[in-house]
Amino acid sequence: MRSRGAWLQLFLKGRIMSEEWGLCLDCKWWQIEPSASVEHLTVGLCIEEKLQPFRLRISGNGGCNRFKAGAPARAKGSSGQPPTAKPMR
Ligand code: SF4
Repeated sequence: MRSRGAWLQLFLKGRIMSEEWGLCLDCKWWQIEPSASVEHLTVGLCIEEKLQPFRLRISGNGGCNRFKAGAPARAKGSSGQPPTAKPMR
């Protein structure tokens, strides 16, 4: 659980708009290539359980209300067209 100050800091950085909506690059359901940098333009696969059927390929700039704060997962094939990686979480 983040402190109020930590949430305010993230909000002021423009990376989290609410406690329920956030950017992919801060989301534990974002899965990127093993050597990829965690950046706004990096492309990865969303592995959130309800979104998995869509094989959603999305950049760190994306976001949704299934957001869950955490470090991204990593797997080869996460940025393919379409992504070929299996969800690692
Ligand atoms: S689309 Fe939503 S659930 Fe998927 S990685 Fe981005 S913020 Fe997380």
